[in-house]
Amino acid sequence: MEKTRPMFRGEIWVKNDKIACVVNGEDLENDNMKDFPKISWDVEIDCRDNLLMPGFKDAHTHSAMVFLRSYADDLPLDRWLKEKIFPAEAKLTEEDIFQLTRLAVLEYLTSGITSIFDMYLTSDSTAEACLDMGMRCVLTSGLNDFTSSIERMEEQYNRWNRKNSLISYQLGFHAEYTCSKELLYHVAQLAHKYSAPVFTHLAETRKEVDECMARYGMTPAVFLETIGIFDYGGGGFHCIHMTGDDVDVFSRRRLSVVTNSASNLKLASGIAPIAEFERRKIPVAIGTDGAASNNCLDMFREMFLVAGLSKMREEDAASLNAMKVLRMATADGAKVMCLPKCDVLAKGKQADIIMIDLHQPNMQPLHDIHGNLVYSGSKSNVCMTMINGRILYRNGEFFVGESVERIYAECDRIVKRIFGTTNT
Ligand SMILES: [Zn+2]
Repeated sequence: MEKTRPMFRGEIWVKNDKIACVVNGEDLENDNMKDFPKISWDVEIDCRDNLLMPGFKDAHTHSAMVFLRSYADDLPLDRWLKEKIFPAEAKLTEEDIFQLTRLAVLEYLTSGITSIFDMYLTSDSTAEACLDMGMRCVLTSGLNDFTSSIERMEEQYNRWNRKNSLISYQLGFHAEYTCSKELLYHVAQLAHKYSAPVFTHLAETRKEVDECMARYGMTPAVFLETIGIFDYGGGGFHCIHMTGDDVDVFSRRRLSVVTNSASNLKLASGIAPIAEFERRKIPVAIGTDGAASNNCLDMFREMFLVAGLSKMREEDAASLNAMKVLRMATADGAKVMCLPKCDVLAKGKQADIIMIDLHQPNMQPLHDIHGNLVYSGSKSNVCMTMINGRILYRNGEFFVGESVERIYAECDRIVKRIFGTTNT
C-alpha cells in the first residue's frame, strides 16, 4: 500500500512489535544481502506465494454491541434505537462490555482487522478487553447528556494515551442531537486545551439534519464548526446527508469521513457521497459500525458496498476504483485513526500484517489483485492476522490466550441475563 512501491515478491522480517525489514525477492535471489544483518529467526513462515498486506482498519465500531446482533432487525432507525437498543444497553455492566468486546475481537481477527476505532458507553472495559486479546484499539468517547462527562473523558484521554502502545484515545462525543450546546462548548474547550481532533456521528439521517436546522438554523457540521469543535481537525462517522456547506467545512478543517455502508443500507439511512469526498480530497476511511445495525464486523463486505453504492449514487461505474477502496480500508484508515505507524508494510512500521490465501477459487486468476480483494474477496481468504508482531489468528485457529468456547459461553450468559432467552 505504499504509493511509491508496487506489490512485489519477497520477505517481511518482524522483530518484536515492528517490521524490521521488507526484502525484495530479487535481492534474495541475487544473494545481494550484504546490507542486511544475519539473523537466526524464532519462526519462519512459508507464505506459499500468498499475499501479505497491512491489516484492515475498522474506523468506526461499537464492539460490545455484538450482544444485539440480530436482536432488533427490520425497524426504522429511531424506533430501533429508542425502543430496542437503548433499553437493552442500560442493563450492561462494565464486566459485560469486557466480555462482549472479546467476542467482537475474535470476529475482527477472522476478517483481517488489526485496528479498531471504538466508541462505546465505557472506554475502560473496551480497552481492557483489547489489551487482554492483543487487539489494537483507538478509543473515542460516546459522551452525551446522559452518559459519561467531560471530566471523565479528559481523565480517560490522559490515561489511555500513556498506558500501552496498543491503545490510544481520541476526543469524541456521541452526536449533536444527544448533546446540549453547553456540553459541546466544553468539548471544544478540551479540544483547544490539548490541540486535539474530535470525532462524532454526523449527518447519519435526514431527520438528524432537519432537527439541527430547526434547533440552530444550521446543519450539524456547520453548527459544530461555529462552536470550535473542529479547530484541531477530527471527523464524522456516516456523513450521508451532507450539504455543499458541510463538505466545505470538512475541506476547510481537514476533517475525515468514516463511511459505514452496510449499517446505512440496513437502517435505510442513505448513501454517502464518497466520490464527492474524493474529488474534494477529504480522507475517507471505512467502518463496520456495531453488530446491532450491520450485523457483521467484516471489512470485505464493507469494501464491496462502499464501491458498489458509490458507483450507484454517481450512476457511473468508473467513479471509484478498487485500489482507492482498498486504500481507504488500510492506509487511509490508519491516517484517519491517527495511527501513522500502522499504514503500510515498511521498515519501522508496526507489524500489523495479514495474509490473504490466494490458493482459493475466488482469488484466481490474478488479473488485478485489488479487484479480487474488493469485489470477490471474503473473510474466508484471511489465513493469518498479526498485530504488534503477534500472530493472533492463523488457519482458522485463535491465539488469544483464552478458549473461544469460553468467550461464547460468557456472552451467552450475558444475553440470557439481559433478555431472559438467547432468542433461539
Ligand atoms: Zn456508530
